[in-house]
Amino acid sequence: MVSVQQAEEIIQSVPAAVHPETVPLQQAINRVLAEEVTADRDLPPFNRVAMDGYAVDSRGFSPGKSYTIAGVQAAGTEPLLLAHSDTCIEIMTGAVLSGGADAVIPYEWGIADGTTFTPHPHITVTPWMNVHRKGADARQGETVLAIGTVISPAEVAVMASVGKASVNVYGFPATALVSTGNELVPVQTRPLAHQIRQSNTPALQAALATLGWKADLFHFKDDDNLLYTSLNDLLARYDVLILSGGVSKGKFDYLPQILEKLKVKKLFHSVAQKPGKPFWFGCRPDGKVVFALPGNPVSAHLCFYRYIRPWILRSMRVTVPMVQARLASEVHFELPLTYFLQVEIRTEQGMLWAVPVAGHGSGDFINLKNVHGFLELPANQNEFKSGEAYAFIPFRTLF
Ligand code: AMP
Ligand code: MG
Repeated sequence: MVSVQQAEEIIQSVPAAVHPETVPLQQAINRVLAEEVTADRDLPPFNRVAMDGYAVDSRGFSPGKSYTIAGVQAAGTEPLLLAHSDTCIEIMTGAVLSGGADAVIPYEWGIADGTTFTPHPHITVTPWMNVHRKGADARQGETVLAIGTVISPAEVAVMASVGKASVNVYGFPATALVSTGNELVPVQTRPLAHQIRQSNTPALQAALATLGWKADLFHFKDDDNLLYTSLNDLLARYDVLILSGGVSKGKFDYLPQILEKLKVKKLFHSVAQKPGKPFWFGCRPDGKVVFALPGNPVSAHLCFYRYIRPWILRSMRVTVPMVQARLASEVHFELPLTYFLQVEIRTEQGMLWAVPVAGHGSGDFINLKNVHGFLELPANQNEFKSGEAYAFIPFRTLF
């Protein structure tokens, strides 16, 4: 048996096979950048007018002065030239600042009569007022987005502005999601009295999908010959196998021995945690990686969020932050295991408070609908006091 930290380190020591692929910008949301994005020109690329108003030369300003309006400049036109410091150009937001001007006086700071503009007497005009200066945000050639950046709408805007119609992002390893168990039937089937519907693979598939990670789904009966040939076939076709069920101590829990027969080297079996203790992990010399998760739905869910999600993200050079939440009430846990407590998050003045939500154990996945994530209570403690902060593993957004 390994500790949670050891399990995590062992998994991280076998990085995922993530190879860059090119996707259109429109499909890049939530993917991870596999290339640096640089500015193809200064940003902004010119002295950009930031208010509708009048472009002037600040050095020629004095209180009470009137300007002759020498022209009108819309956005998207070549800049006009300010011939004289007694003149101004009526100018729009987004336009290139007129030549010879260094400031913009907004419309509402004065009065205009069609030919002249008279600023209110109390205003002052300072150089570069209401001008977003060329290159202020980024210089041409500067890295604006680093490798390992998760692409949000903000990054889409940055890439659009520097002309990246397509972008290199990390691809996901070819992945098979496999459930095992004689009692399991597909979602669309009416189960017999002794059967249940498979819920782990649809849930795991959905969890992968939140990252843009696609997987093919399989289900096999607890039959050792069938499992041997089926998994042999899947190991030839996929880089990563995520299995659920069949790794505990039951008579029909064949997976650990079959995986070893298939030359998948066991790197650990059993983690000092609750839920998810029977978790098995291994890899083959050819780089194939196998996560064999316990079948209990809460265990499988926890193992995905605690181990597999950070594994794939770190393989893509994403910095995965650890956040903490404070326990809202005291918890006792006797066993020398890391206890992943199901919690609902409530905020109080911006602080995250973790309210325990008791379920009926690792088989009770209905309870997960009331939960935001797990609070990781360390193995070397039995008493967890209200107000103490522990690592929080979210599986949904908090709002
Ligand atoms: P196992 O790890 O195979 O001993 O399974 C533990 C428990 O999880 C059993 O009650 C199984 O019926 C249940 N289980 C296993 N796989 C799934 C699955 N894919 N969907 C829902 N429940 C499952
Ligand atoms: Mg089973």
